[in-house]
Amino acid sequence: MQSRQRSKVAIKFGIKLVQSGARARAIAQLISAQVETTLLRSCLALPKLLYVLRTCPPDHITHATRQFDSIMREALESIVSSRITDWSWQKASLPSNRGGLNLRSAVLHAPAAFISSAASTKTLVERILNRPTNLDTYLEKAVSALSSSSSHPEWLNLDDIDIPLRQRHLSCAIDEAMYQNLLDTSPSTRARALANSSALPHAGDWLNGVPSDVLGLHMQDKEFNSCLKYWLGIPLHSAPHLCPACRTSADEYGDHQVGCGGNGDRITRHNAVRDVIFSAAQSAVLGPSREAQGLIPESLSRPADVFLPTWQGGRPAALDVHVISPLQQTLIHEAAFSPGHALEVGVRRKLTTHLQACRSIGVNFIPIVAETLGGLGEEAINIIGAIGNAIDRRVTMTHSTSSTKKHLFHRLAIALWRGNTCLWLHFNYSLLKSCFYQYLYNYAIKHFPCGSPIIIAHLGLSPT
Ligand SMILES: [Zn+2]
Repeated sequence: MQSRQRSKVAIKFGIKLVQSGARARAIAQLISAQVETTLLRSCLALPKLLYVLRTCPPDHITHATRQFDSIMREALESIVSSRITDWSWQKASLPSNRGGLNLRSAVLHAPAAFISSAASTKTLVERILNRPTNLDTYLEKAVSALSSSSSHPEWLNLDDIDIPLRQRHLSCAIDEAMYQNLLDTSPSTRARALANSSALPHAGDWLNGVPSDVLGLHMQDKEFNSCLKYWLGIPLHSAPHLCPACRTSADEYGDHQVGCGGNGDRITRHNAVRDVIFSAAQSAVLGPSREAQGLIPESLSRPADVFLPTWQGGRPAALDVHVISPLQQTLIHEAAFSPGHALEVGVRRKLTTHLQACRSIGVNFIPIVAETLGGLGEEAINIIGAIGNAIDRRVTMTHSTSSTKKHLFHRLAIALWRGNTCLWLHFNYSLLKSCFYQYLYNYAIKHFPCGSPIIIAHLGLSPT
């Protein structure tokens, strides 16, 4: 490419960059954090630049792509109202099925875009121009850049690339390397467990639904911001506190609260997830009942959060919902090195408690276990998928199940994350109340030493 043409490309890219950057900044000023993030991920990030990335050799636009990445990071920081660490930004740059936000790096993905386009059109371009081009030189440099940022350092030239030369496949190799790097550079055991847990199947579903009130997928700003911070490993509180519900130490990240049984919020989350499954089973005309009592003769145990009188093979099924935190102290070390460990523990716990009793009365027992970051167990994925299929068969009379199933998974994910926010936000409220009561107690002791026992008894204050 001649230097004049190169300058034209750079100017064109510069204009595009400024336009996209301005839009990204404008988006970060919108009203709803969930809408802002959805627009940023799906419209204004890398997809906006694809034409430029596919047509410009990556080494000609390095400065501009760096600027673009930096604008994206600023836009995300504006949405979460907090500075984010390099590790959290690296996590956000991954696709949602790898625990990120789909804010892919333009610097890293430019070679993949250019190679896929230039390699597939080279012959046609040369035939149109009726002369050889110098695309090979640019392709060589792009392959070299790709091999250094992907999980395939052995790719030295085009012939070495042993997967289809499509951008999707090449970008996957970059994501794979980035994800491995994220794990290797985790600043703590917690961060590594977080990276593992947020990359489990269906963990990213809460980000992928349309933020619509009508569909039950919209989240309030406070809810969404808390979830976004938790997802990216940003502390929810400035320092550890004493949990006002159970009086034990609570960390600044919010891990204690998502598993705290000190008040009723954990049950609220469980019930929210259960109700999504129950209403889906109703839509599928499966005749479900909620919290079926007296299922096991001469026992008070209730293995069926949702009971289906006729399920596969004509047998009834008891669906038992369980939400488990992989970041709780007893599981975090295993979760950091064995993805899905918490799910296995949850399933084992449920099977030990209910499987035998259900078998004895001819009922299929199906544990629906979810991690607090949204990852689902295999049994849960199968049963939710099957209910989605049943909705299509019974209600829409079609077999095109993908959108119904997707929507069901999205609703389930939003219910779960809303349940988490309930625990975080009530914690903040309780903490504030507890601090206020502490202040009142100190004030009473200091200014009304004679009357303080009466005041303390009246207000229900305690000296702790
Ligand atoms: Zn607690």
